[in-house]
Amino acid sequence: MASIAFEGLTKRFGTTDVVRGIDLAVPSGAFLSLLGPSGCGKSTLLRMLAGLEDPSEGRILFDGEVVNDVPPGRRDIAMVFQSYALYPHMTVAQNIAYPLRKRGVKRAERDAAVARVAAMLQLDALLARRPRELSGGQQQRVALGRALVRDPRIFLLDEPLSNLDATLRSLMRSELVALHRRIGRTMVYVTHDQLEAMTMSTHVAVIDGGVLQQFGSPADVYRRPANRMVAGFIGTPA
Ligand code: ADP
Ligand code: MG
Repeated sequence: MASIAFEGLTKRFGTTDVVRGIDLAVPSGAFLSLLGPSGCGKSTLLRMLAGLEDPSEGRILFDGEVVNDVPPGRRDIAMVFQSYALYPHMTVAQNIAYPLRKRGVKRAERDAAVARVAAMLQLDALLARRPRELSGGQQQRVALGRALVRDPRIFLLDEPLSNLDATLRSLMRSELVALHRRIGRTMVYVTHDQLEAMTMSTHVAVIDGGVLQQFGSPADVYRRPANRMVAGFIGTPA
């Protein structure tokens, strides 16, 4: 796991600043939610953490080390997206094992890792199925499994539950929180759903128009919103 810090982080597309001078730091093992309305810059922030976008200004640090120039493959992170992006022709086991296969990990070691992850996510009985034979929640678990199998120091999750129905979403929320407790890895979770951010996180960063509006514990943000934007956003059910 790793601590994460942003220093004056800015991202400009053309002449538009979509992320504006964000400073924040979370300790190793945190569950940080990036919370804000659609278009506020959450995914852009996450993509900069992943190394998929270069900051226009400012720095990103993992464990105190500047990673701006570290390519995505060397950042020791795993990313889970809203669209699960599973390989349709592969079985669940093959999907989960894929990141290891790509790295040349031997068959026996891959099988052991898949078994460990499948047990953790209750996918044991589904390993031989293809993605189209799974429910949305099961597919999301496979996507998580594929991230977990690499045992990265940081997990980046971009609205991973937004394609699920309300019941499954609530179940997966609890599962993600339990998973975070169990593995203790640093997680950064993008959501526009204040309930998710409030119930799952150790730290919340409320963002609007690319600007950090408030950063604190869910209780702090809830009880003492820093401004009207935060108060309105937190107070409004999603
Ligand atoms: P969120 O994830 O909070 O919905 P995004 O980070 O996806 O927001 O987008 C923030 C803003 O940046 C939006 O106005 C979006 O249209 C713009 N944007 C995102 N990616 C690009 C890009 N590659 N080129 C130009 N504009 C972009
Ligand atoms: Mg987004």
